[in-house]
Amino acid sequence: MAIRIDGKAVSLAVQERIRQETEALKAKGVTPGLAVVIVGDDPASRTYVNNKKKACERVGFLSEEYALPSTTSQEELLDLVRELNSRPEINGILVQSPLPKGLDEKAVVEAIDPRKDVDAFHAENVGKIMIGDFQFLPCTPAGVIELLDSQGIAIEGKECVVLGRSNIVGKPMAMLLLHRNGTVTICHSRTKNLKEVCRRADILVAAVGKAGFVTGDMVKEGAVVIDVGINRNEQGKLCGDVDFDSVEPKASFITPVPGGVGPMTIAMLMQNTLTAAKEQNGLSNRE
Ligand code: NDP
Repeated sequence: MAIRIDGKAVSLAVQERIRQETEALKAKGVTPGLAVVIVGDDPASRTYVNNKKKACERVGFLSEEYALPSTTSQEELLDLVRELNSRPEINGILVQSPLPKGLDEKAVVEAIDPRKDVDAFHAENVGKIMIGDFQFLPCTPAGVIELLDSQGIAIEGKECVVLGRSNIVGKPMAMLLLHRNGTVTICHSRTKNLKEVCRRADILVAAVGKAGFVTGDMVKEGAVVIDVGINRNEQGKLCGDVDFDSVEPKASFITPVPGGVGPMTIAMLMQNTLTAAKEQNGLSNRE
């Protein structure tokens, strides 16, 4: 039976470390500040934004929320981003996706000052991740690495298979695993012999967005299975991409949904905001 990795506990431990660092930073007169912008009334986005606000309170950050109506124009949204770019007490800016139809998400991301882009979605930060200059960590993939580290799971030399190639999860996940010397394969909807490829994995990361997609027959005995998916099944219950019941008996480690990768994404967002505050105040210990 696999060990279930408790993402909530690991996330809280990371946030406690950030809280302590924040306290030390505050003693130097710097309070990290995160602005979260939400447009429209998507209920899932509302939950994410509330959780981010709670995490800011937990670690001692200043947090500002901008809830805009779904009728907001592109120009109004860009004006807000520009204003937040110019305010020194705001170190991180996050525009919650998805944006309502008619708003150009890419243009909004590119308008964020890269030094305040704590989601690490701006092309400049994506490029930095690609060359291994990790100013900001891609939140969800970095959360996965933190979970692996928390269990002492080595990545170096391992066969790592990433299911999914999105810009926010699959691609940066593959980059981080590669950076840690994993041998990485990325799968997508055109991959042939998907089952065979997945069965090679020592570490299998599922980011497909389909409930129960990964079944026991796709997993090698003893594999580490990380489930990034957040889906609703036919009964409306929150579930991942992994069919937990058939995969758990074969895996050595597995993350549940909820309570696995999800809480880590927020912890990494807090980490990036702390990094941004240090950088912007000349207190960074980066070389
Ligand atoms: P996307 O829809 O952007 O990407 C899904 C990927 O899965 C695509 O690359 C797609 O391939 C691939 N895919 C789809 N169907 C198949 C298939 N039948 N066989 C193989 N590959 C397939 O999703 P995201 O990356 O944004 O998110 C993935 C999941 O992770 C979602 O459930 C999302 O909710 C969740 N998520 C969780 C987060 C967290 O904090 N835990 C954060 C972000 C996302 P192709 O490119 O060929 O279309």
